Amino acid sequence: MNYTSTRDDSKNLTSSEAISKGLSSDGGLFVPREFPEIALSDISELSKMGYRERAAFILGKYLTDFTEEEIKACMSAAYNTENFETEKIAPVTKLDDNKFVLELWHGPTCAFKDMALQILPHLLTKSAKKAGVKEDVAILVATSGDTGKAALDGFCDVEGTKIIVFFPENGVSRIQKLQMVTQEGKNVYVSAVNGNFDDAQNGVKKIFTDKEFNEFLKKNNIVLSSANSINWGRLVPQIVYYFSAYADLIAGGNIELGEEINIVVPTGNFGNILASYYAKRMGLPVKKLICASNSNNVLTDFINTGVYDRNRTFYTTISPSMDILISSNLERFIYDVSGKDNEKIIGYMKKLSSEGRYDVGDLKEKISEILFADFCDEAETKKTIADTFQKYSYTVDTHTAVAIGVCNKYMESTGDNTITVIASTASPYKFSASVASAIKGDDALSGLDEFGIIDLLSEISNLPVPKALSELKNKEIRFKAVCEPDGMPKQVGDLLGI
Ligand SMILES: *Cc1c(COP(=O)(O)O)cnc(C)c1O
Repeated sequence: MNYTSTRDDSKNLTSSEAISKGLSSDGGLFVPREFPEIALSDISELSKMGYRERAAFILGKYLTDFTEEEIKACMSAAYNTENFETEKIAPVTKLDDNKFVLELWHGPTCAFKDMALQILPHLLTKSAKKAGVKEDVAILVATSGDTGKAALDGFCDVEGTKIIVFFPENGVSRIQKLQMVTQEGKNVYVSAVNGNFDDAQNGVKKIFTDKEFNEFLKKNNIVLSSANSINWGRLVPQIVYYFSAYADLIAGGNIELGEEINIVVPTGNFGNILASYYAKRMGLPVKKLICASNSNNVLTDFINTGVYDRNRTFYTTISPSMDILISSNLERFIYDVSGKDNEKIIGYMKKLSSEGRYDVGDLKEKISEILFADFCDEAETKKTIADTFQKYSYTVDTHTAVAIGVCNKYMESTGDNTITVIASTASPYKFSASVASAIKGDDALSGLDEFGIIDLLSEISNLPVPKALSELKNKEIRFKAVCEPDGMPKQVGDLLGI
């Protein structure tokens, strides 16, 4: 299986080249040349396997320049019960006869990013070796919270790598900050930046393009790389859990082999829902993919009108991981729907950067055959958390609530009662305050600190508090460094001791 760029069909790469490069030099994203076919008989076999075997089967179809042993080694290093709180890795929970929740948050940082970031370091180091990289790979991340911690945890003590995370000093929650500054491991480095997320992000981008600085790093046996969500190595592990959910529904007798399901995904950068689309393209029986947004509903409007327009108010919501106005992975979707039309993609992306908007014209018809889109505002999200708790005694986080809210809107407006899998992207404990106040009211939280609120949520929900969060209270703070945005390159050198 070879890979090409969404903006230049003449590019031809192996999977390890695509993973170690991250982004194509023409600015496009790497995409597989074709979709491997998974037959119903394969899915039937998957239903008898555990998660690691399912993942090895799917990844083996895409990473054809990896040996079977290499893929199996990656699986064992990532998807084990030391990292995940359940052997099922991504279990499916039944809400009612036609709604099932795919829980993607049993990993070490309690959010779905773990599903990819626990395995990416292993894919990346093996890819770098195959691509002939001799130096240690240093991953540089600017984070608004969740990605930084998930990357730190994933890369922690992985041979041949270092991980450096910058976060905005006053732009992350106290829990998120604690999660990062207490990170253990010999190869991890964390620094605050005196500025907002954009300052940290721009600082990282500058470091990547600073030739002199990169030469200085190379002399010290280090090359930089990114764990950004546009990397193919982050996308491909996400395809697995949609097959896994379907296989679980078969194994549980909930659906017949070949029966179509709907899938709802709470969407930000369009990575997770794109993975579900790729699963459908490979043969997973899917009727409709439902794209759920919060008040930042740029995707809802795009899917319903064919016009992508980022010129709008940016809202800070209680589902912050979906507060995004430019969904990078959408480029891969439009590329496929357009029949792999490089010129069209280049045109749209040019318009996006110059005018902040583009119109896909008659592609809209095709897009709305595949996708349904709607959004939930803040009040609807809170109400969905409370209603889901009352109706099913099931506690969901704010992002998952957006998905359930949109699922209800879809079923009501279309009358389609097809069995639906709802992707649940974070543990309710990760957003304890919003979840507890949605169920018990704001007054119940007065006088409580973050850990008090976690205890309150544990009383409400009866769910065990994830070890990773309960341990935070007593962990040693390892990183206290703060730097100015301009001082970020020097900070990288200082942290690495070079
Ligand atoms: C990152 C994230 C999302 C959005 O996923 P995309 O792949 O960017 O669309 C949704 N929920 C949570 C909790 C996340 O961390």
